[in-house]
Amino acid sequence: MKALVYHGPGRKAWEEVPNPTIKDPTDAIVKVEATTICGTDLHILKGDVPAVTDGRILGHEGVGVVTEVGPDCKNVKVGDRVIISCISKCGTCDYCKAGLTSHCKTLGGIGWIFGHLIDGTQAEYVRVPYADNGLIPLPEGISAEAGTMLSDILPTGYEIGVLNGAVKGGDIVAVIGAGPVGLAAIMTARTAGAATVIAVDTNKFRLDQSRDFGATETLEVSSGQDVAAALRELTPDGLGVDVAIEAVGLPTTFGTALESVRPGGHVANVGVHGESVEFPIERHWINNLTITTGLVNATTAPELLESIKSGAIAPEKFVTHRFTYDQFDDAYDTFSNAAEQEALKVIITNTH
Ligand SMILES: [Zn+2]
Ligand SMILES: [Zn+2]
Repeated sequence: MKALVYHGPGRKAWEEVPNPTIKDPTDAIVKVEATTICGTDLHILKGDVPAVTDGRILGHEGVGVVTEVGPDCKNVKVGDRVIISCISKCGTCDYCKAGLTSHCKTLGGIGWIFGHLIDGTQAEYVRVPYADNGLIPLPEGISAEAGTMLSDILPTGYEIGVLNGAVKGGDIVAVIGAGPVGLAAIMTARTAGAATVIAVDTNKFRLDQSRDFGATETLEVSSGQDVAAALRELTPDGLGVDVAIEAVGLPTTFGTALESVRPGGHVANVGVHGESVEFPIERHWINNLTITTGLVNATTAPELLESIKSGAIAPEKFVTHRFTYDQFDDAYDTFSNAAEQEALKVIITNTH
């Protein structure tokens, strides 16, 4: 089969590799129908994730059809059309039982293993460990594109942004960063009852898009601006927003999130950070803030599927660019230059 293989920082190739085979009795093999590229894949290609070694097939999102199951698979069957969750999970350790599948102990404390510690989904076929837990049946009538958004991005925005941020009816929510994950938070914040959702970004295209995802206001950031002050001014009493969701991963944007919330507010960090942030505790110790961080558990995919069925969310909106498997390099080029290309998520379809 063909797959997108990582060969060290800055090097990848769409090349011929052996087909995956069942290794453990709880494995399944899935023929991938559609996959996408995540910001994390770009981090890996920069060399930011040293656990990913030369020869690893990238990717942790996708939809496909089960072609083979191990003898201990009880739920998944050959022929099932499924969403491949970005998080693998044994389902029986105490972390999994508590819903913290992102840190499944059986998998060594990290549930994100596709395209990281084992071969991933940017391939014609993928081996899925603990397939009964990691594959979600894709209901009739829901497209591969929408399903692919449930592998990672929508659960990430929802669980780590909206649920960790404890968004409730009537809240004023600021989403700092209107990239794909920020947009996922915007889309699901509205379904959680947020009255006002303010999208914050420097990129006009993304801000325009954010309205279509449910943002009620947008704040276009210019250099030197006190963004937190601008956000506080947008609240009726000037005290700040109820929830600030940080979806960028920079010290400045984390600072904006922290300074824009009202006393008793929530800061939900979703962004992937590469350096330390400042936390002026001498001012904030008094503010009854809740600050959360996290890696997605992807346990809300069934709930999000219901929201798709009811029409509350339409994840196809994420897909701005479409490619086929022989255009993987083009797909990466487009996604790497997302701002200039006006790209949100790219879909790559296996036409073989
Ligand atoms: Zn991802
Ligand atoms: Zn587990």
